[in-house]
Amino acid sequence: MVKVAITQKWQNQWQMSGAKLRLIKYDVKPWPDKTKNRKHQVLINRLRLGHTNLTHSYLLNHTEEPMFDLCGTKLSVQHLFTDCPKYVVQRNNFDFPPGFHSIIGRNFNIPNILNFLKCIDIITKL
Ligand SMILES: [Zn+2]
Repeated sequence: MVKVAITQKWQNQWQMSGAKLRLIKYDVKPWPDKTKNRKHQVLINRLRLGHTNLTHSYLLNHTEEPMFDLCGTKLSVQHLFTDCPKYVVQRNNFDFPPGFHSIIGRNFNIPNILNFLKCIDIITKL
């Protein structure tokens, strides 16, 4: 009973928080660990938080925030997976579910994500 009450309190705090991760992780239940590969775990966590070398290295380098050359949008992980017109064909080939939270959240398909990132030649820049 105590465990249930504490989890519910944690859930309430999570829902009230402004954490970026809350946009794709709706509850406090742990997500399944689908890979034991440390590099893949790090990559997935970076993608989920939206903080990658590609999108945030400008903060360390003291340079301008990067924009997509084609669409002039701020470079973001979500934009790559859901909106960028440059990668429409590649996204369709990988048949991602609708919504960023479905692609990268609890039921993520790690081979699909890795292959998409390889296909658009971005995996080494993350
Ligand atoms: Zn774009």
